Amino acid sequence: MSAQCCQHPETPAVGHCTGCAEAFCGNCLLELGGSLYCGSCKVLALGGRTPMLEKMMSPCEEAGSAMSSAVIGFFIFGFILQPMAIIKAFGARKQIAANPLLTGWGKANAALTLALIGLTLTILNFVGKVSQ
Ligand SMILES: [Zn+2]
Ligand SMILES: [Zn+2]
Repeated sequence: MSAQCCQHPETPAVGHCTGCAEAFCGNCLLELGGSLYCGSCKVLALGGRTPMLEKMMSPCEEAGSAMSSAVIGFFIFGFILQPMAIIKAFGARKQIAANPLLTGWGKANAALTLALIGLTLTILNFVGKVSQ
């Protein structure tokens, strides 16, 4: 008979934990997203979703700023904006590497690539004008 709670042998079990399949009494089981979990499995289930961590994560502003500089630099002030974007992108990557709660690694890399292309085009354009 497994009709008793595995943590309270004197209390009848009311259900099974979705996580570990053990029998638990009403005091031990907690409902989470429509499923029943025991105390320790609830912590694991929550840990898998990490809603707290997601809330604490924030996009790295430096990465966004690097991206805008790189994009605007394609049209105007490339000589100033592209090197600025490169510096910002490196700064953003440093910030993100140091702080696991910051997101935007992909954006920082994209901004860096874009800025390098933009700067090359700006220089080529400049050289082209000068040699005419
Ligand atoms: Zn469990
Ligand atoms: Zn119990």
